[in-house]
Amino acid sequence: MREVETIVVGGGPAGSTCARRLRQLGRDVLVLDKARFPRLKLCAGWITEKVLRDLEIGPGDYPHPMLPLDIRSHLRGLPFGLSWFPTPGKNFSIRRVEFDAWLLARSGAEVVQHDVRTVRRDGARWIVDDAFACRWLIGAGGTMCPVRRALFPNQRPKSRQIVTLEKEFAYPSREEACRLYFKRGLVGYAWVVPKGDGHVNIGLGAKAKYLRKSGTNIHDHFRAFLDDLVREGRLDAATADGLQETGHPYYLFTRDGEVRLDHCLLIGDAAGLATMDLGEGIGPAVESGLMAADEILGRGTWDKSKVTLFSLAGLAQRFMRAANRRHMPAA
Ligand SMILES: Cc1cc2nc3c(=O)[nH]c(=O)nc-3n(C[C@H](O)[C@H](O)[C@H](O)COP(=O)(O)OP(=O)(O)OC[C@H]3O[C@@H](n4cnc5c(N)ncnc54)[C@H](O)[C@@H]3O)c2cc1C
Repeated sequence: MREVETIVVGGGPAGSTCARRLRQLGRDVLVLDKARFPRLKLCAGWITEKVLRDLEIGPGDYPHPMLPLDIRSHLRGLPFGLSWFPTPGKNFSIRRVEFDAWLLARSGAEVVQHDVRTVRRDGARWIVDDAFACRWLIGAGGTMCPVRRALFPNQRPKSRQIVTLEKEFAYPSREEACRLYFKRGLVGYAWVVPKGDGHVNIGLGAKAKYLRKSGTNIHDHFRAFLDDLVREGRLDAATADGLQETGHPYYLFTRDGEVRLDHCLLIGDAAGLATMDLGEGIGPAVESGLMAADEILGRGTWDKSKVTLFSLAGLAQRFMRAANRRHMPAA
């Protein structure tokens, strides 16, 4: 049996961030991921300036293209783009296939390709698949995290199942603006995100419950969205016809669920951190990875309520806090 102080299950942004901070402080950590990196991750690949700060990525550090984004929101069929977005500072696009592999390699942690199936407690140790033992176990396996499934079994509210379809492909004549479409009678949104190397990511996500109720099909919504892009001159018809989109169900867990057991912490999507409206999850994954590492290091506590929310709800929350502060009598 392989013994380490900390096992991180999942090498996405949450897991690699946690592993990196532990390695920086000289701690013993092993990352288990079922995928071999670089791996495909369905994601539009939008990140905020804060993500770069939290990850300590300075100008010139990142070896792959990263494009500053001019984000335009198209609301409910209005024919113009609003240059508005609820994030302070700049926004960027990256390709997850490059970003996640680079972060994981940079973490300095040993990575073993292993599909985690079982987790059990044995005295003060967690045992993973009867092959690995650790004192601290981090569940960073994303929306289908096996640690979450094994130890936090009652947390998958069906109403929050999201269905997504997307395609990332080389399209050098793509426009530079990033577009979000909140429309088409869809409880969800669609996006066009340009990437730095001439690629573009086109996708769409919707609540599964809504699709079931409305009797509509996610593929039909995606095709209708492509037709709109062709009509608007943002995509040529031959490319649209040849696109083979891929998709999967994605679970947005409630944020009030449990994220800790004795020496076991859930982080990132496994902890239900991606926002419901915008689906921003990379930033929360990174923040949670840092906080979980700090708890292991005895320097802090992993606290979900401290994670920054860049979403419409988060915007409202920040607005209310600011308004309350203004009306507070001076101490
Ligand atoms: C279509 C779509 C678009 C999105 N767009 C954006 C966006 O533009 N910006 C944004 O901020 N967020 C976006 N998100 C959300 C974002 O992708 C996630 O919030 C983010 O990836 C969470 O990071 P994570 O490290 O928690 O999990 P993941 O990135 O999902 O990493 C989990 C890792 O765990 C591994 N794993 C899973 N099961 C096992 C197992 N049994 N054994 C071992 N390893 C396992 C996986 O292989 C994976 O590498 C999007 C999500 C979707 C679905």
